[in-house]
This record gives sequence, structure tokens and C-alpha cells, in this order.
Amino acid sequence: MKIVILSRNGKLYSTRRLKEAAEKRGHKCLVIDHLKCSIIGEHNNPRIIYNGEELTDVDAVIPRIGASVTFYGTAVVRQFEMQKVFSVNSSISIVRSRDKLRSLQIFSRHDIGIPKTVFTKNPKSIEPLIKELGGAPIVIKLLEGTQGIGVVLAETKKAAKSVVEAFHGLNANMLIQEFIEEAGGADIRAFVVNGKVVGAMKRQGAEGEFRSNLHRGGSASMVRLTKSQRALALAAAKAMGLEMAGVDMLESARGPLVLEVNSSPGLEGIEKATGKDIAGEVIKYIESRATKGLKSDRVG
Ligand code: ADP
Ligand code: GLU
Repeated sequence: MKIVILSRNGKLYSTRRLKEAAEKRGHKCLVIDHLKCSIIGEHNNPRIIYNGEELTDVDAVIPRIGASVTFYGTAVVRQFEMQKVFSVNSSISIVRSRDKLRSLQIFSRHDIGIPKTVFTKNPKSIEPLIKELGGAPIVIKLLEGTQGIGVVLAETKKAAKSVVEAFHGLNANMLIQEFIEEAGGADIRAFVVNGKVVGAMKRQGAEGEFRSNLHRGGSASMVRLTKSQRALALAAAKAMGLEMAGVDMLESARGPLVLEVNSSPGLEGIEKATGKDIAGEVIKYIESRATKGLKSDRVG
């Protein structure tokens, strides 16, 4: 098969590993920067030009679209879908999962546990809303944040009000969320491929840090999921429509809760923590699907 990895940087661990795994299994694999792809729309002929040449005969696409280029990156994925090329994650599912508010709205109508969360544009209503969340401490998150940046723990009601006012003053969108203290600064990442958990790790935040992101100094170790964690991870990936997903969960007193679902989950942390060939699992999934046509969710 001819497999395209849409990635801005061929040197990234995840991109390198996916290319290596594809080639090891006998496929041709190109790493293509989606920002260098031009989209041509004309009657009955959706085309893609890359560095001046038309991209043709692609069998499957692995999108690794960074959060800052979601709009254009997903447009390129969509153009492949218009050509009936199989994409590991559909453009619509990537768009859906990139939006933390939209994701929570979808989870809240399924049987998927989430931390209780408020979204508001009205700073005047903040006091009753903090009460709604059971009072301080609470977590405040910038909607556009990733890697733990823009996630703040407000220990008191006063601090919470100040942070909310400051973010409002900057015209930033935010979520206000109950603090799951019993998670103890740890979260669980389940790597899901095609309705199966292919690897899982526990990430523990650095000393005194409630955020467990590896980018924030957290450390990862392999973990065996409980039945309810596994079921939750699969349900969350399914609700997003993602075939490849990194599902982040917190273990709370009332069971596991989903924090977010990542459509381009990193391979380095999970492969190193578990010792598993996760990239190979992704390629095997492509082999099983690429020739079987697109699903109805894959129309853009
Ligand atoms: P990002 O997308 O920036 O990683 P997250 O919402 O995943 O943002 O939050 C980053 C980290 O902060 C999580 O991995 C978790 O360890 C911690 N965290 C986030 N929300 C809560 C919460 N409501 N209660 C306790 N810890 C949280
Ligand atoms: N893509 C990386 C991951 O899945 C970073 C995502 C994030 O921390 O927001 O771990």
C-alpha cells in the first residue's frame, strides 16, 4: 500500500515510528507536511497538489495534525476523504475532539463519566456556578490549551473568581471544572486503536504538581486498566468517532472520568512505558480497513 503520514515534522518520534512500522510491513510510506498541500476543488475531481506535484494513488492516510493547524490540516484530510482515501481518523472526528467543550457536551449525553464542568461567558454568574461545582478548589482551563498549559488550580473561591475574571478580561474561552483531588496528580492514558486498548500508562505529576502531563515534568509507567476504565476509554473514543485515540482519564471516588480524547496521541510515552509496538498496531489496523471503503462518518 501507499500510506501517507500527514505530519509537519518527519523527525518526531511518533512520525518516525509510524513510517518505520509501515515500511517494515512492506508498505511505501511518505511523510507529507499538510501545510504544503494545496487543495483543488473542481467538478467531480477533488485533487491535492504537494510541492507542485499531484498526489495520486494513496491508499491510506495517518493524520498527525497539530492543534494550532486544525483548520487547514483537517481540510487536507477531508480532501483525501473526498477522493475516497481511507484516513485512520476522519476529519470530522478530529475537529470534534479538538474542542474540549464540544467533547464534554457529547460525553454528557452518553453514558460517559466526566468531571462536572461549567462553561460560561458571564463572569457575573460565577459565584453560583462555583457553588454548583461544590465550591473551591476548582480547576479552570483555557479552551485552547494543550499539554497542561492554561490549566489552573484555584484553591479558594477568591482565587477562582480572580482567575475567571482575568481570563474573561483577555477574552479567552474557558471551562470551570470540579477538582478531582483523589486522583492525586495522576491520570491514565489509554491508547485505543479500532475499538481496542492497545496500551495504557499512568502518568504521575511531578512533586507538588496536580497536572500529570509529561510536558509538565510528569513520569509514565505501564498500567493494567480496570474493567470500567477500559470500557470508558472505548466508549469515549467511539463517541468522538476516533479509530485511533489517546483517552485521558482520572480515577475519582465515583469511578473513572474522561478528561479528553486526543486524535494524534503521542507514541513515545506509551511505547516506552509499555514496551509495545503501538505503531505496528496502527499499521495493522490500516491493512484491515483501507480496502473496505469509507464509513458514513467519513464524508467531511
Ligand atoms: P491538557 O489538554 O492541556 O493536557 P487537561 O484537561 O488534560 O489539559 O489537564 C491537564 C492535567 O491536569 C491532566 O492530565 C490532569 O492530571 C490534571 N487535571 C485536569 N483536570 C483536572 C481535574 N478536574 N481534577 C484534577 N486534575 C485535573
Ligand atoms: N500529542 C501528545 C499526547 O498525546 C500531546 C497532547 C497533549 O498533551 O495535549 O500526549
